[in-house]
Amino acid sequence: MSTQTTARPLTMALSKGRIFEETLPLLEAAGIQVSEDPEKSRKLIIGTSNPNLRLIIVRASDVPTYVEYGAADLGIAGKDVLIEHAAHHSGGLYSPIDLNIARCRLAVAVKNGFDYPAAVRQGARLRVATKYVTAAREHFAAKGVYVDLIKLYGSMELAPLVGLADAIVDLVSTGNTLRANDLVAVEDIMPISSRLIVNRAALKTRHAELQPLLDAFEVASRKAVA
Ligand code: AMP
Repeated sequence: MSTQTTARPLTMALSKGRIFEETLPLLEAAGIQVSEDPEKSRKLIIGTSNPNLRLIIVRASDVPTYVEYGAADLGIAGKDVLIEHAAHHSGGLYSPIDLNIARCRLAVAVKNGFDYPAAVRQGARLRVATKYVTAAREHFAAKGVYVDLIKLYGSMELAPLVGLADAIVDLVSTGNTLRANDLVAVEDIMPISSRLIVNRAALKTRHAELQPLLDAFEVASRKAVA
């Protein structure tokens, strides 16, 4: 009796926007074309020219969750997202390659005119609004600065302008968003880029299918920084 089953195609989780746009050239370098543009289509599952690879489009902070639980075999997520995810999860993720895409930095910013160095020197207790509570907590603990962290889910730039916080911890790329809101970056926490992440079980059970993709990403990401 035949017990042949049809395995689902390899599934890769991506978020829309910068990560998707900067992943496209890496996929193309691996000989893979995407069948639809997720910015235009409302589809959440997108096929590719490789019948054994499909993409799922999820929120950036959900990418590690899909991969950790095996609903996606691999994905691409920013270091910022991975740090926050790791704080609450036990680690079913393998993160082999820094793709050097979606680069920016995690930084502390304050309202123009707020004397951050003086506040730190005086040992003031600072209120800091951020989506990145784990990275922020570690940063201020290492500096010995007392902070009350206020968790926000977006538009962090608003917090110092309306008196919710003295400072924010946010991603900064060009600095345009800070400038537009009369904020200034006063301290860099770390450089951020996106990494390829792989489900640990899939790495074993689907190794033969995954390895050529991982190799192609590795080569393409090295070319991206060269
Ligand atoms: P910018 O105005 O170019 O400094 O970009 C800052 C805004 O874009 C902030 O709201 C950030 O949260 C967001 N941002 C910048 N770079 C990234 C990135 N690599 N991934 C996700 N969000 C980003």
